[in-house]
Amino acid sequence: MAEFPFLEVNEAIRLYGGEDLNACMQCGLCASVCPWREVESPFFARQMIRMGQLGLEGYESDEVLFGCTTCDKCVINCPREVDIIGIMRAMRSMVSEAGIRPETLKAASGSCHANGNPWSGKREDRLAWTKGIEVPKYGPDTEYLLFVCCTSCYDQRSQNIARSLVKLLDAAGVSYGIIGQEESCCGESIRKSGDEELFNKLATSNIELFAREGVKKIITTSPHCLKTFTSEYPELGGDYEVVHSSQLLAHLVSEGKLKLKGKDGRKVAFHDPCYLGRHSNVFSEPRELLDAAGAEVVPMAREEKFSLCCGGGGGRVWMETPQEQRFSVLRVQEAAQAGAEVLATSCPYCISLLEDSRKTEGLEDSLEVLEVSELLARDLA
Ligand code: SF4
Ligand code: SF4
Repeated sequence: MAEFPFLEVNEAIRLYGGEDLNACMQCGLCASVCPWREVESPFFARQMIRMGQLGLEGYESDEVLFGCTTCDKCVINCPREVDIIGIMRAMRSMVSEAGIRPETLKAASGSCHANGNPWSGKREDRLAWTKGIEVPKYGPDTEYLLFVCCTSCYDQRSQNIARSLVKLLDAAGVSYGIIGQEESCCGESIRKSGDEELFNKLATSNIELFAREGVKKIITTSPHCLKTFTSEYPELGGDYEVVHSSQLLAHLVSEGKLKLKGKDGRKVAFHDPCYLGRHSNVFSEPRELLDAAGAEVVPMAREEKFSLCCGGGGGRVWMETPQEQRFSVLRVQEAAQAGAEVLATSCPYCISLLEDSRKTEGLEDSLEVLEVSELLARDLA
């Protein structure tokens, strides 16, 4: 019987987790809503899937194979509900195993192997963000584990997100605690970038740690941790009640446990992070919190499930994106056009990229970028 090498590649992609590959009918509705159509780019989702179906080579370059930010916008527009992100992940996984991987992603993976975080920080510095403040340790009588995203553990700008959240949890009398050094990166973006083996190692290490500590409920500072703890850890035996900080804070405000002055008074636009909004269906809570803080929430282009990705998902947060291709530049411009004085969001990746673009766009004096917890902590009663 004749051999068809292209069929082998097609089958391999499906075996690596891209089971939906052949369900795609090539209508192109995915590519039409993809944020890469907002800028000049060689990345086209439909084309990549076609090449995978036919087993053709040529999609392995950094800009094409590693372009997808896993923002989920295409998935909600696909008439066949094709798991496009699963296909991207499978294709990345295959080439990563062959050693084809952007250098910056190799560095992030290497750091996770050595230090348990992608930012080249030492494991013993994981609690550097707590310097000068009292944060309770997680113990047998603690209700929630506060799991702080690696970005907020090591990045100086991002540390303020965790510090602000601690103020709010203390003010509301929540029973919470941190573990710290023994924790590892949740592994969400590592997996999406194609390093499946490392994801399993990180997730297993966290699941074993949480079991030793008796963790049942988790508060996450990042929607990426939220998504992987709720959707991916259960497959590996890790089952928890998980909330993103914005969900818990909204609940505390509605119960009257978290008291705010309600005096912010500024015009605030809210940028829906892909992993909080489209991926986890959390849209109203951050807005309720901004209202409670007395902010005037102004509408901006592309909100809720139509939100424009900041560009940081799928491992892109560790890759260098040319200025003219940054979605975050478009986003800060949209906030400015909406007349916002503050662009608020609820994700450490979004904060990093939007902060950067605010500066490169010369908006430093007119537009502040804040995580919702930061805005709330300034309005505490
Ligand atoms: S929208 Fe769905 S069916 Fe259409 S090209 Fe994209 S993946 Fe294929
Ligand atoms: S997940 Fe986002 S970036 Fe990736 S192909 Fe879909 S729309 Fe484009």
